[in-house]
Amino acid sequence: PATDAGGRTRDEDASHWQQSREAVLPPASRRRCGFFNSRCTRSHSYPVRSTRNGTMSGDGSLIIVMRSDATRGDVDHVLERLAEVGAEAHVSEGSRRTVIGIVGDRTRVQQLPWEAFPGVERAVPVLKPFKFVSRDFQSDDSIVEVGPAKIGGGHFAPIAGPCAVESKDQLFASAEAVKNAGATILRGDAFKPRTSPYAFQGLGEAGLILLAEAREEFGLPFVVEVLDPRDVDLVSSYADLIRVGTRNMANFSLLSELGRQPRPVMLKRGFTATVEEWLNAAEYIYKEGNQDVVLCERGIRTFETSTRNTLDISAVPIVKGLSHLPIIVDPSHSGGRRHLVAPLTRVAVAAGADGFMVDVHPSPETALVDGPQAI
Ligand code: PEP
Ligand code: MN
Repeated sequence: PATDAGGRTRDEDASHWQQSREAVLPPASRRRCGFFNSRCTRSHSYPVRSTRNGTMSGDGSLIIVMRSDATRGDVDHVLERLAEVGAEAHVSEGSRRTVIGIVGDRTRVQQLPWEAFPGVERAVPVLKPFKFVSRDFQSDDSIVEVGPAKIGGGHFAPIAGPCAVESKDQLFASAEAVKNAGATILRGDAFKPRTSPYAFQGLGEAGLILLAEAREEFGLPFVVEVLDPRDVDLVSSYADLIRVGTRNMANFSLLSELGRQPRPVMLKRGFTATVEEWLNAAEYIYKEGNQDVVLCERGIRTFETSTRNTLDISAVPIVKGLSHLPIIVDPSHSGGRRHLVAPLTRVAVAAGADGFMVDVHPSPETALVDGPQAI
């Protein structure tokens, strides 16, 4: 079997979920495939030249659509030429054809007669500021795997659990309830972004350890928020899915850091972000090589005060049109009140969302965070 950059085989990678349940603490160094020397059949990124030093602008973006009968040799020939002109290429192997997204020096890339290359059907300039997360780059829906759960491409993910991990009893009671109710992923935070610096900030690593124990006990993968780029390695060593909260959507150094670690990422929409800004934030993660990104609509700030945030349900079909990434809805942080959770969840399903994430608590009146919205 093909090995990835960390020397693991695909089979080893697939069995990671199983191993991590046994070990409680999964290995920090796991690196999934997705790079040039990988022979895995998923979409690959080819970091022909690093973009981290800021030498490459996104202006010269072009998509090369290969013919459906193009060979691997045709694709490699295009990639070799791109490497010669110092461009960054991301290859997406769809069910029908391969598409190569390029970011590099506009003049040098566009000057080449791409349509004369064997196997190339057409070269299309991309006008949108985000490239690799766009439907132009990949027409098939992305499917993100979180342990044994899948999100996107027809796979629906009910995600539920407490807003914050408070104690073993509280977490385990929540995990048991949500598992019995059909959730496929557990939520629960160890680091909480609180408006007041004096409010409960989360249990930190002790919370991550409890989440890993709950994963083992109930067989549910978990999603947890990371607040600080300095905690990415720590959180990545425990979590199955790492969440970026609304307040950090535009923390570009955090996003890039998450693009360079092996776990899938859930990116919440900034409460003042447009859909385009949100997709650009996803691009920050994706372009570093992490293609497992799930978007989460959680409401935006408007003049309306009867809800915590205004759920922008139109974002679901709009994102579906613009991007191949899965999108879920958080009815808890948008509505902010328990009785709104069920209707907003139904609306999310009707709008075509790939899942939802809800706050749950065994005794909401004692919750340290977000009790009023917990079911
Ligand atoms: C959360 O999901 O617990 C959370 C803090 O959400 P948001 O970042 O959307 O406010
Ligand atoms: Mn919350």
